[in-house]
Amino acid sequence: MPNITGHTELVGLMAYPIRHSQSPTTHNLAYDKNGDDVIQLAFEVDNDSLEAAVESIRALKMLGSNISMPNKTVVHKYLDEVDDAARLCGAINTVVNTRDENGNVTGYLKGYNTDGMGYWQGIKEEGIDFKGMKLVLIGTGGAATAIAVRGALDGLASIDIFNIKDKFYPRGEEIAEIINNNTDCKAEMHDLADLDLLKEKMHEADIFCDATGVGMHPLEDLSNIPDGSFFKPDLIVTDTVYAPRETVMMKQAKEAGVKRVYNGLSMMLFQALIAIELYTGKSTDIAYMKEQLGI
Ligand code: NAD
Repeated sequence: MPNITGHTELVGLMAYPIRHSQSPTTHNLAYDKNGDDVIQLAFEVDNDSLEAAVESIRALKMLGSNISMPNKTVVHKYLDEVDDAARLCGAINTVVNTRDENGNVTGYLKGYNTDGMGYWQGIKEEGIDFKGMKLVLIGTGGAATAIAVRGALDGLASIDIFNIKDKFYPRGEEIAEIINNNTDCKAEMHDLADLDLLKEKMHEADIFCDATGVGMHPLEDLSNIPDGSFFKPDLIVTDTVYAPRETVMMKQAKEAGVKRVYNGLSMMLFQALIAIELYTGKSTDIAYMKEQLGI
């Protein structure tokens, strides 16, 4: 239990719905471990109350706030600055109340997207240098976009994006164009129904990521990959899903002999730890967090 005093500083979490979120557990564990007199609290904030809620970051001299749905794509309107990756992917999950040279918050708010940073930090923590690698990515939603943009900015050679022809498909075409126009990475958008092309690209790739939620409830019995022949043993296979810890796709990959298969837990942990570092300037003991959170 934190010792809350008149000095305790506040980090928010603004979303709706939000009561199910694990974020305050992760953040408060880290602040406590780091010896920071900081707490995170969750606030039910939707698009209608967002402007006032963001203004309260300034008024209450909060350190900042995590932002989740439905606010990630609109909060930029109320900020002073947005970092490159968040601007390119059109979504912000972390608003930082920047500090002056004395460490005091200034009210100048800057938006970041730590989802993509978190995914790639998880890859780096496995000892993998992904610069120059080829990614095959399924999905064009929030998670996929953040992963693609951050990976492209940080040196991926190419990204082949696949998606079903639903309402998210045009967003994939936009993301590929944004990546091609703003980074040295080459991005192409494909229809997930073209399974021959998917197999060909997966055999050429270094990393594969499913960022669709297929494999998670209510789609827990499904995989976007038809069978094990799509996986070569040296492919790095990742899923953004972390509940269940092993999706059908991950099982297929392991049965096909893939050694490096990772779920979405590291992305979840590192997006939080990166945000915490942006708020407090402190890095957190990763092993301790993994042990406490049962990761
Ligand atoms: P989203 O709703 O923004 O995007 C969903 C994507 O899945 C779209 O590309 C959509 O076309 C695709 N899709 C939906 N149903 C499909 C189906 N039946 N078959 C194939 N494709 C389908 O969602 P999001 O926020 O991008 O989240 C996607 C997944 O990533 C979810 O499982 C979410 O829990 C997970 N996620 C994990 C983390 C983490 O920290 N590990 C962070 C964000 C999201």
